[in-house]
Amino acid sequence: MEMVCPKCGSQMEPMEKSDILGVHTWYHCPKCDERHHIFEGVLKKYREPIWKEIESYFYGDFKAVSDLRNEEVEKLHWEMVTDYPKRKGKYTRPTLLALTAGAMGVPLEKSIKTAAAMQTSEDWILIHDDWQDGSTMRRGKPALHLIYGPELAINAGDSLHIIMWRMLRDNLDILDRDVALRIIDEFYDMMQRTTLGQTAEMLWIQEKRYDLKEEDAYYIIDGKTSYYSLAGPMRLGAILAGADEDTLDVLSEFGTYLGRAFQIRDDLLDLKTDFRGLKERGGDIREGKRSLMLIHLLNHASEDDRQAVISILEKPRDKIGKEDIDTVIGLMERYGSLEHGESEARKWAEKALHTLRTKMDFLKGDEREAIEWAVDFMLTRDF
Ligand SMILES: [Zn+2]
Repeated sequence: MEMVCPKCGSQMEPMEKSDILGVHTWYHCPKCDERHHIFEGVLKKYREPIWKEIESYFYGDFKAVSDLRNEEVEKLHWEMVTDYPKRKGKYTRPTLLALTAGAMGVPLEKSIKTAAAMQTSEDWILIHDDWQDGSTMRRGKPALHLIYGPELAINAGDSLHIIMWRMLRDNLDILDRDVALRIIDEFYDMMQRTTLGQTAEMLWIQEKRYDLKEEDAYYIIDGKTSYYSLAGPMRLGAILAGADEDTLDVLSEFGTYLGRAFQIRDDLLDLKTDFRGLKERGGDIREGKRSLMLIHLLNHASEDDRQAVISILEKPRDKIGKEDIDTVIGLMERYGSLEHGESEARKWAEKALHTLRTKMDFLKGDEREAIEWAVDFMLTRDF
């Protein structure tokens, strides 16, 4: 297959074949000297139409009880509301949603509003999340709360949140009523579970919890990654195709396994790399993130080493130095926490692939192939 670079458009050369799919999935661009995955081309293809749909909801008129307008306020309001959406994320979730719908026979014009709502959910959550986590950068630019202050930024997130529900309501114009209502129900469940995962994650850092078990790490992962990033988007796509509960259960199972594999790999990458210079190595340690590896370390280290880790985690974020991060990662190596994470990630990846190969025949055609590329991308990317 001919592959062009998603960045510069040059012809790319295939690299070694994927262990998972047995076909070429990674390509090398000689001009940029970067490797790109075949799924990046799929993301690029879906991003434009979904963005157009999202954009059609901005600057809109709405009914109000009085005619008073304030141009200056409205201008600033939309500037803040549209800021994150305009920066455009990877669009992985809406693309997976549209691909699942497509693999079950539903064309993009029927899934477009649900996909737009999916992406919009990410944008309002990120505005709130960046402030909650004290993040400074988002998609290469300063976080919204650093540009406008937290009060106005959170309010812009609220505005995007209600736009998300409006998009879902407008599904009634393009879908059967029953389907449109099932989509709203699924969104409610998905977002509720996502915010629960967020509660657990923030609460356990705030409470300085060092006694967590592995299942606590999975409690966070299952909400924020498995459901919100994988099972949810795929279930929404399947609901658009009128899927029964058994089919949705299979997607929950697949999403849970793949989400766990992906998140643990992502957390391992944080400990091992600087994501091609985009992030700081070990940034999760600075944030106090209760990853599977950190929990493993706290449960297996000697009392002295455990106290050393806790004293680092208790420091104010800006007082945690590079040597502190190296200390924690060194202990994770010594106590087998990294190895444990790798073996857990491998276990869940194998389970996900088994489910995909044995229970998911209902996904067909080019879109199924693209979903398989997505799985390969999630399990092999190293940036
Ligand atoms: Zn290139």
